[in-house]
Amino acid sequence: MELYQNYINGNWIGKGFQEMEVINPANNSVIGFVPIVGEKETHEAINHAHEALESWSERTAYDRASYLNRFYELMMEHTDELAEIMTLEMGKPIKESRGEVQYAASFIEWFAEEGKRVYGQTIPTHVKTKRLQAWRKPVGVVAAITPWNFPVAMLTRKMGPALAAGCTVIIKPSSESPLSAIKLMELVEKAGFPKGVVNLVTGSSSKITKAIMENDKVRKITFTGSTEVGKILIRQSADQVKKLSLELGGHAPMIVLNEADVDKAVKGAVLSKFRNTGQTCICANRIYVQSGIYDEFVEKFARAVSELKVGNGLDESVDVGPLINQSGFEKVEDHVNDAVRKGAKVVTGGKPFPSQEGNFYTPTVIKDVNESMVVMQEETFGPVAPIQKIESAEEAIQLANDTPYGLAAYVFTENVSEGIRVIEQLDFGIVGWNDGAPSAAQVPFGGMKESGVGREGGQEGIEAFLETQYVAIGME
Ligand code: NAP
Repeated sequence: MELYQNYINGNWIGKGFQEMEVINPANNSVIGFVPIVGEKETHEAINHAHEALESWSERTAYDRASYLNRFYELMMEHTDELAEIMTLEMGKPIKESRGEVQYAASFIEWFAEEGKRVYGQTIPTHVKTKRLQAWRKPVGVVAAITPWNFPVAMLTRKMGPALAAGCTVIIKPSSESPLSAIKLMELVEKAGFPKGVVNLVTGSSSKITKAIMENDKVRKITFTGSTEVGKILIRQSADQVKKLSLELGGHAPMIVLNEADVDKAVKGAVLSKFRNTGQTCICANRIYVQSGIYDEFVEKFARAVSELKVGNGLDESVDVGPLINQSGFEKVEDHVNDAVRKGAKVVTGGKPFPSQEGNFYTPTVIKDVNESMVVMQEETFGPVAPIQKIESAEEAIQLANDTPYGLAAYVFTENVSEGIRVIEQLDFGIVGWNDGAPSAAQVPFGGMKESGVGREGGQEGIEAFLETQYVAIGME
């Protein structure tokens, strides 16, 4: 079984360390190992990133873009290889894995260009003998901590803007899915990035984070993961006032109003809810349907969901794979059982998927749910769609906003005035209006409230990796 090594200062290290197994959730088999490096190696990676910072940041944006463009081309060429390892380590259906690699590469392509548009400012002076300017500088060494549910895209959404801005990077991927991130480092090496510009370490998150937090050469933490861990990082980064960008958990409402095109709403709901086996931060986690179309929506949606094919993601025809691990599976079961105990009705699914191994749950629709049920209060992160009947748009808005989360929301209505009125009142950073898949490299992605700090992607994505230096120039 292969040992996938760490990438520090352009070298592959990992032999002689304790190792961690990486498990395929479709059959619980071990598919590889990664080293468990500690604080010492993390400090070394940080120090190398710091040594590489000066020359990387002094290059022109055009020069940095040429590396990023090579990296982009390599990702596109190696799509199948990256997709396969991703499916093996975290279960995503292979067609979605291929889509993720291309989505991930699009961040590299976009930010290669965006780096050329980092403009400063000339500010009108109040004194004739002064000139006032705002210059832009890279923030410095960046630590990127990423989750398992998009093992490649969550990385490149950080690497693209950080590298384009002139920062150097240390990556700590999720222990559930480190292999695709390590494969990506092979492409970093092939693309010829100078030594130390990109580094990757695997192991205990608490030890690696301890080194990151203690080492004052790290000026920025960019994290995607749960709100719970995000809060820990906020506290830990306070001592050195490290800059933070946080993409945290969600609990997305989908509001389907009487004037919706029901077929469009069903398609959007299936796409949003069941992509990545319901394990995305912007998955529709709770669906509010107005009474006039409730029965029709439930019936058509349940039919579409019951047709989804469950199985090992390596099978091209599979739509829904396994949950990432046993505790992810148990959370799904708990949410369904709690709802049923409190009076919800299972329309389709509602039970584990019969399989000899792996953490498979049958795609599920439950109706007649209400806000007393855990499934309407917490991120389920699984293939379960709970539907609550609402009487008015106002009721849906109130229920939708009644959460500490504010990442994504969805609204389905063909009535433009109603759509605008509803969206203006939703406290969510991303809204899909008649659209179940709003993500793209060129848009500002991120959450309000406890779903995060800052935005990734688009113009705002590179801002997160820049400092402003105001320069007052005195003249004769
Ligand atoms: P997680 O448990 O918070 O882990 C995320 C990363 O943090 C992993 O690399 C993990 O490493 C590390 N980590 C865990 N505990 C830590 C600690 N105490 N200190 C420092 N690092 C720590 O999240 P996950 O289960 O991987 O991902 C699912 C969550 O991510 C969901 O809540 C989802 O909504 C959210 N998410 C948000 C977005 C967004 O854009 N807003 C996108 C994707 C996912 P180990 O694996 O080694 O423990």
